[in-house]
Amino acid sequence: MGVAYTLDCKQCSYNHKVFLGIGFNYINLKTILEWYEQEEGRQQIKKYMNEEDIHFECYDGLYVCEQCGYLLNRTFLHIISKDYFYINSYDCPLCHVQMPQKPLLDEIEEISLKCPDCEEEKLEIQSYMDWD
Ligand SMILES: [Zn+2]
Ligand SMILES: [Zn+2]
Repeated sequence: MGVAYTLDCKQCSYNHKVFLGIGFNYINLKTILEWYEQEEGRQQIKKYMNEEDIHFECYDGLYVCEQCGYLLNRTFLHIISKDYFYINSYDCPLCHVQMPQKPLLDEIEEISLKCPDCEEEKLEIQSYMDWD
């Protein structure tokens, strides 16, 4: 089950909802293929979903741009087989550098995130519901 958070800046109007974690259709590669959008990742899923000895991680996370601080709520996908692995990646929609390989998950409640808009204030982060 995943958790939804609100990210709220007290200084400016930045206010976003993010959905982190896993839903019920994240549990195997076949169900992930039903909703996963990135074409590159879809090809990888199709290639490996019928193989044995495959491990994967798939969850929604929060990517923090190291350059401009933009916050991007997207799905992390990591497929591992005996002799191969695939990790998806995203570019920052704002400054176009590559986002860090791994997004944040539950730890967003512990670390402090700077507001990407005004860059002055730390965001107030509150969980407000479970989702699946
Ligand atoms: Zn950026
Ligand atoms: Zn702000």
